[in-house]
Order: sequence, then structure tokens, then C-alpha cells
Amino acid sequence: MVRLLGNFWVTSGNRLTHVWDASAYLIAGDEPTLIDCGSTEGYAALKRDLKSFGYAPKDIKRVIGTHGHWDHLSAMAKLQEESNAKLFIHEADRQQVETGDPALTAAYLYNKPFPPARVDGLLTHGDVLDINGYLFEVYHTPGHSPGSVSLRTEFHGLKLLIAADTIWGGYHPRIRSSLEDWEKSLDRLLELEFDVMTTGHCPPALIFDAKRHVHEARQQLGVYWNPWFKPFHSSFRY
Ligand SMILES: [Zn+2]
Ligand SMILES: [Zn+2]
Repeated sequence: MVRLLGNFWVTSGNRLTHVWDASAYLIAGDEPTLIDCGSTEGYAALKRDLKSFGYAPKDIKRVIGTHGHWDHLSAMAKLQEESNAKLFIHEADRQQVETGDPALTAAYLYNKPFPPARVDGLLTHGDVLDINGYLFEVYHTPGHSPGSVSLRTEFHGLKLLIAADTIWGGYHPRIRSSLEDWEKSLDRLLELEFDVMTTGHCPPALIFDAKRHVHEARQQLGVYWNPWFKPFHSSFRY
């Protein structure tokens, strides 16, 4: 686990829990909350990490899902078996999480099942979540998937954007990506003020000069698609 700011920790990721895991975060405090929870493959490592922090799975009160993909949320069903953690996600990615749809959850890229998880509440554009005293604004940023959200918060005067796969995420019609939506979402993010950010698959650290990175991502979006991309289960070296 790596501390990013105040009570905000990165718990999962390809260098922390499993090579296929997306970044997941812990907001420590009275109601320990995760933003995403990583994959089934990384769950044991996540639990070990939480334990070193003094938490058991049952201490986790809720999980805010950035979107319904295997690398971000396939550990949720296991976590629900061992806790009363409530899952919140955008409506447009809800069904695939509840059914474990292998295409829409992107599970086919990893050749692993997505254990269906219970969705307890929905995230809506404009929501402001109070998580252990920090306010997280919810922005619906579809494009990578229809139900992708980005979160913005502030720690000690520093504005943080949690962009997840809205920045540098993959594109495929099978996961219902939309170039048109994605362009609009990036334009929407560029209108926001933020100083630092994290993405779904960045190293466990803050990205500084974040606005410039989002701007670059916007310019790069859709220039060219790679039809030869290898599924992660065959190789992640490409
Ligand atoms: Zn991802
Ligand atoms: Zn994704």
C-alpha cells in the first residue's frame, strides 16, 4: 500500500497486488472505503495489505466502482462474501457487474470469469460523496465504457482527479466503447480544475502537471486503433 495524500492510499495495481490489477484506493477513516477493489487474482494480496493496515475485509464499508471491468471490480463478489461492503457504480455499467458478462466486463481479455457482484447503489453525474470527511464529486465520463465515472476531490488544497480508464483506457466495440462519448468526456474533464491525477493503470504515485496529460490524451484519442493487441492472458508484454 502506498500513501498518496492524507488518508488516501493506493492499495492495488500491477506493481502492488497482481500484474493484471487496475489501481484501487483506500480512503481510511471511520468508514473505510475503497475506490475499485482490483481483480480476483489480486484479492489475496489486497487482503494482506489491508491487514498490515489493521483492516479486515469486514471493515470495508463501501466500494465506489469507477466502471464495470474485470481488472477493477472482479474481486467484489469475494469481498461481499467476507464483508457487508456496499458497491456503488454508474447505472450504465451495472448489469454487466450483476451478471458477470465476459465481454462487457472485459473478462475475455484475461480468460477469467467475472464473479457476479451485488450492486447496492448507483452513482450519478453531479453526486457529491462524503467519504470520511472528504468530498468526492462524481463525473460521468463515458467512452471507455458507458458507465465510466471520474472522481474529483481535494486534499489539503491539492485538487485530485481520479480518472481511472477514462485516461489511457482501451477501446473496443465489445466493451461498448464510444469515441464520440469519449471525446466529450475528455473535453468535460479539461473544463475542470485539478492539480494532480491518477489513472487506472499508472504507477502507484500521483501524476503531476495533470491538465497537460489530459490534454495530450485528448489529442491522441482515436488517432489509430491497434487490431493486434494481445489479450492479457496470452502475454502482457507487448
Ligand atoms: Zn482498467
Ligand atoms: Zn476498463
